[in-house]
Amino acid sequence: MDEAQPELGQVEAVRRNSYAWSTGEITGAFLEALRDRGTILASLCRGCGTVAVPPNSFCEACGSTMRDWREVGPRGVVMSWARVEAPFDGAPLEAPFRYVLVRLAGADTSILHLAPDDDAVRIGVTVAPEFREERTGSITDIKWFVPEV
Ligand SMILES: [Zn+2]
Repeated sequence: MDEAQPELGQVEAVRRNSYAWSTGEITGAFLEALRDRGTILASLCRGCGTVAVPPNSFCEACGSTMRDWREVGPRGVVMSWARVEAPFDGAPLEAPFRYVLVRLAGADTSILHLAPDDDAVRIGVTVAPEFREERTGSITDIKWFVPEV
């Protein structure tokens, strides 16, 4: 077969979309606590007692509605971590830095956040949040978790 293939065209464009995201009741309360009080709220399950952070409206363990709150942390233990060496679009920090999975004191689940690129950040180490001076009601109101030495 010797059929002529159509030439494919290509258009390059940059698209930017501005949008607002509604946090909802549960995440909204969590973010307000970070911004206004510098505290970390978890949701408490009346069904099985699970304390979840970030908070959920439903318990992942038993499916019950989670409507009660409990303050957790601020310290926690590193459950896992990953080092980021190369920059990428949308990176939360300038590389190198670390992603950490932190189990806050009093919580049964872990929260994914950031840590400095410090060899002291490893599994089992106690870390504490470093809050920003100016908070906006975002998870980034916690700059990152730093190891306690
Ligand atoms: Zn439950």
